[in-house]
Amino acid sequence: MNEVYLSIGTNIGEREKNLQQAVQALMEHSAVRVKHVSSIYETAAVGYTEQADFLNIAVAIETKLIAREMLDICQSIENELGRVREIRWGPRIIDLDILLYNQENIDTESLIIPHPRMHERAFVLVPLQEIAPSNGIVHEKATHTLQAFNIEQEGVKLWKKVDSIEEFMGN
Ligand code: ATP
Ligand code: MG
Ligand code: MG
Repeated sequence: MNEVYLSIGTNIGEREKNLQQAVQALMEHSAVRVKHVSSIYETAAVGYTEQADFLNIAVAIETKLIAREMLDICQSIENELGRVREIRWGPRIIDLDILLYNQENIDTESLIIPHPRMHERAFVLVPLQEIAPSNGIVHEKATHTLQAFNIEQEGVKLWKKVDSIEEFMGN
């Protein structure tokens, strides 16, 4: 089994529902097992800042799929939930990114793992650290950024504490 970490973000519509629907779609996939879902964090947009605040989570899954197949699943979930690609880093209903795939380094045209911008994004690292505190790569990616920036300044706010997948799904 492969251990995979995803980052999911949304800033359009019913944001919590969008996150739940993305996790639901992962749970319904026969080749994917959702192991952990982080708390939900809220962050002001970075890059293209004229847009609504984001909700972000990190999700740990187990899968027998190769990384490329996992990217296809992420993209079909984005499409199912109605994502339209307009402005790069602009507003979106849902974004599913692969952060880590085991300890692998992948560098192809369509897929780069570890995610090339994860180490500089507190909104990715804070939820990821919550669900993978003892993962060596997470530690290595997070230490520098989370020490260098004051998390408050980075604006990553705990929006809803989540202790289990059931609680996250609202059951
Ligand atoms: P960012 O990558 O900075 O978070 P984004 O998530 O908004 O930006 P998208 O429009 O979702 O970018 O994806 C653009 C392309 O990134 C995808 O078509 C995909 O092929 C590529 N990509 C490369 N590495 C990854 C990865 N680890 N996870 C998801 N997509 C990736
Ligand atoms: Mg992204
Ligand atoms: Mg993406």
